Amino acid sequence: MTVLQGEGVSRGVASGKLRFLRRDARAQPRRQVADAEAEVARFDKARGEAVVQLAKLYVETKAKLGEEKSLLFQIHQMMLEDLDYRDTVTSIIRNQHVNAEYAVDQTAAQFSEMFTQMDDDYMKERAADVLDVSRRVIRLLTGQEDEELGGGEPCIIAADDLAPSETARLDQSKVLCFITARGSSNSHAAIFARTMGIPAVVGLGDSLLEEFDGRDVFVDGGSGEVFVEPDSQATAELEARRDKETAHRHYLDAFRGREAITPDGHRILVCANIGAPKDLEAVQDADADGIGLFRSEFLYLGRDNYPPEEDQYRTYRQVLEAMDGRMVVIRTLDIGADKQADYFELPKEENPAMGLRAIRICLARPEVFRTQLRALYRASAYGKLGIMFPMITSVSEVLRVKEICAQVQEELKAEGIPFDVKVELGIMIETPAAAVISDLLAKEVNFFSIGTNDLTQYTLAVDRQNAQVESFCDRHHEALLRLIRTTVENAHRAGIWAGICGELAADTTLTDFFMEIGVDELSMTPGAILETKAKILDR
Ligand code: PEP
Ligand code: MG
Repeated sequence: MTVLQGEGVSRGVASGKLRFLRRDARAQPRRQVADAEAEVARFDKARGEAVVQLAKLYVETKAKLGEEKSLLFQIHQMMLEDLDYRDTVTSIIRNQHVNAEYAVDQTAAQFSEMFTQMDDDYMKERAADVLDVSRRVIRLLTGQEDEELGGGEPCIIAADDLAPSETARLDQSKVLCFITARGSSNSHAAIFARTMGIPAVVGLGDSLLEEFDGRDVFVDGGSGEVFVEPDSQATAELEARRDKETAHRHYLDAFRGREAITPDGHRILVCANIGAPKDLEAVQDADADGIGLFRSEFLYLGRDNYPPEEDQYRTYRQVLEAMDGRMVVIRTLDIGADKQADYFELPKEENPAMGLRAIRICLARPEVFRTQLRALYRASAYGKLGIMFPMITSVSEVLRVKEICAQVQEELKAEGIPFDVKVELGIMIETPAAAVISDLLAKEVNFFSIGTNDLTQYTLAVDRQNAQVESFCDRHHEALLRLIRTTVENAHRAGIWAGICGELAADTTLTDFFMEIGVDELSMTPGAILETKAKILDR
């Protein structure tokens, strides 16, 4: 028996045969060619064929897995159509008189390295995409077949890392679990596993050997352990873990449909955080009391121009209608810092987390803000909407925001477009400044939602993107807990409600504290909802 230790990124246990995803990862051999132009033509032909394949995959995946998963294929298509990419490949062919496969391989390595070096997380993720799309072109050049993924018997898939197009091509009914050598809890494989509700372990490093292919393995997606050919004693222990996990799921199921009422009779709404309408299935599945945070910036990312009012309106309306009268809090654009879109043409900043981001951009570009507000107010006629503004630090910002909201309402009225006049306006409390003056801010809005992710980074001066300072990030730091308490108390003094939508909301070791200070709402990833309801109800 061999035991490997990685990072558990999707809870649950699975056992089965390990199947290594084989792709031709070998470096492409370099061959001198006499006719470079013929080689460029070969490359262009393969590139064209790849674009056609990707367009087909886009349509198929959209039908199978929804718009968001399919967008990856559009990104891949754009990469292949990118002139820099083509110029790099063709220059290598022409300058070095070499074969197309080699030139594509070299270009992929260069671009992937360049993306990896970038500060922006979104661009970092593109490193896997450029390798993925280049492999597709190489397969077409060499005439290799696409490997069918996850065909045959249900199995545990092992890979160096799973590329986005590979996760989308997997036959979901045949995949018991993923394990990968690289990746992190935010890698595609991890996110995909959580969405599919299957266990996953990433970051196994060099301990994940191809010779394990075909062996029996047992994976614990919670502890991050992978047992290769477990002996009888380990098997018995692992079966017991599986039974415990199943029993825990059944236990949690009993809280579905129940209101989270504290022993002193206070109802806490346990809501979901979402990034796109495709997350609604998980929201319904977890039986959320509402949506406490819809991160609308995802509508603005991964595209090359501002999303039109009409598209935004349809998305917001879809979410409101699906929630059928339950509260939906949509946060206005929170772009900048780690979330960048080129077409915003934001200046390069030394310190982007403290730079031009979120509400600061919206107030600096009122036309962009107005478009979003018009879409939100129009959608408000179809459900119970709360509009929430991120990164507030002062009362004057809130007054300016309210002024713009009032103007938008006037415009819609004049145009005879219906909207809900009772839309609640709230702010995120995610800067220490906002928490400290929460008594003043509470007079201006209908609710607060505490963004503990940013509140932690700004209070403790710990960059949330920087793994090197992780050890300084005490998520239960007394300063943070005091700011949370102050914010909730000030909200209640002013007669408004206060929730928490940062990751801390799902930290069940703090649920008692949240109950004690009278938090009204906790909003979290859908998968954590039942656990929190159980913590509140089971005493
Ligand atoms: C937060 O800062 O806690 C929050 C919920 O917002 P985001 O994580 O999107 O910055
Ligand atoms: Mg935030």
